[in-house]
Amino acid sequence: MQRRSLLLAAGASLALPTVSAFAAAPKARVVIVGAGMAGTTLAKFLRLWDRGIAVTLIDRNPQYISNIMSSLVLTGQRSLAQLTYRYDALRQRGVTVVTDDVAAVDPVTARVTLASGTVLQADRVVLAPGMAFDSPAGAYDDQRMPHAWQAGPQTTLLAQQLAAMPAGGTVVLTIPPAPYRCPPGPYERACLLADWLRVNKPGARLLVLDANPDFVTEKDNFSAAFFGLHAGVIEYRTSVVIESVDAPSMTLFTNGGEVRADVINLIPGQRAGRIVSDTGLATANGGRFAPVDVLSYASTAAPLVHVIGDSSATTQPKAGHIANQEAKVCADALVRSFNGLALDPAPVTNSACFSTITQSQASWLTAVFQYDAASRSMVSVANASGASNGWSAGHFQDMNTWFNALMADSFA
Ligand SMILES: Cc1cc2nc3c(=O)[nH]c(=O)nc-3n(C[C@H](O)[C@H](O)[C@H](O)COP(=O)(O)OP(=O)(O)OC[C@H]3O[C@@H](n4cnc5c(N)ncnc54)[C@H](O)[C@@H]3O)c2cc1C
Repeated sequence: MQRRSLLLAAGASLALPTVSAFAAAPKARVVIVGAGMAGTTLAKFLRLWDRGIAVTLIDRNPQYISNIMSSLVLTGQRSLAQLTYRYDALRQRGVTVVTDDVAAVDPVTARVTLASGTVLQADRVVLAPGMAFDSPAGAYDDQRMPHAWQAGPQTTLLAQQLAAMPAGGTVVLTIPPAPYRCPPGPYERACLLADWLRVNKPGARLLVLDANPDFVTEKDNFSAAFFGLHAGVIEYRTSVVIESVDAPSMTLFTNGGEVRADVINLIPGQRAGRIVSDTGLATANGGRFAPVDVLSYASTAAPLVHVIGDSSATTQPKAGHIANQEAKVCADALVRSFNGLALDPAPVTNSACFSTITQSQASWLTAVFQYDAASRSMVSVANASGASNGWSAGHFQDMNTWFNALMADSFA
């Protein structure tokens, strides 16, 4: 934990000395699309590091519901209200927060068109719209087969379906092909649900259908949990392709045959937020995510547009903590470029992740990434990355501390 705290602080050390406030016209206008983990952090740190920059932050929702910790809503341990964050503190920092849908971005002129018809002219546009879901083939209905992978009504729906399921029922959780948002997330949700089912739905079974050939991350802890602690509840199948679905009959058609269940938590494949694809910037990972220069997060195709968070294609995991770190590197790069300074040639980012193994115990995983000039990518620093040896109640407490620190760093 000490190491993690230091590393979380390390992201903040990218800060340049604060540049004094502007009297009249701003020295630059930055328009940020998406006020989630990446967008809020960027807005905050731009204003902290150079108050001469005018920052407009746009989100379709007036407040943000955290995905992080949202699996605990399924077990009744957290409420969505507890996971809701407002933008008041950012407004107090001088950020112009706009509630609207961004309909179009012109990557050449840096003009942003809102659904209301307003057009904003920026010097730089930063896209931070999170991710979008694929639509599974067949008679798919996300009300019958909720993903609950974007916290909000979907989370409530899945919680209700689990609560209504009879004892002895079958739950299916599907894991999409990597890369997807939060690599350990589906496995930690499976562990949490297995623990909850054992107590609340005796005799219930949880079938985990993983599109990937093996655990995507933290294999030691998750395999010990799946095949040891939760062996009586979890059945784990790998390399499962969901070919099509039939929501009315609650059936999945897979490369390994048909699967029926009482509750199906279908987490579809993922891609960059739609505005990134519509702008023509999602050209990596088979047209799914946006390639960027990780020294500044500028799109490799459109230099006036930057892409941060889940939508960008980098070697780092798609995680809230990494979104926060990418935002700081991007803020630092923008402040430097608006002030005629060279970019930081060697940025470092880090990510901590806690995984719930039971309703009261967690494991953890951490990774540090450093810029590698030869490959022009962020590479994992082996001796600064690692995972806990098992899980404990103490790590569960540390998870709450880490979460509160991260959310305050992004939203307060
Ligand atoms: C169950 C679950 C558990 C997780 N646990 C962890 C964890 O423990 N640790 C961790 O680090 N990460 C975790 N994550 C991942 C984390 O939530 C994401 O990686 C993170 O939210 C990505 O940040 P982002 O800013 O890219 O996207 P988001 O936080 O999703 O923000 C995107 C914002 O853009 C807005 N938006 C999109 N398009 C438009 C548009 N056209 N106009 C206006 N607004 C728009 C959306 O409304 C949204 O507010 C978890 C995710 C899930 C689903």
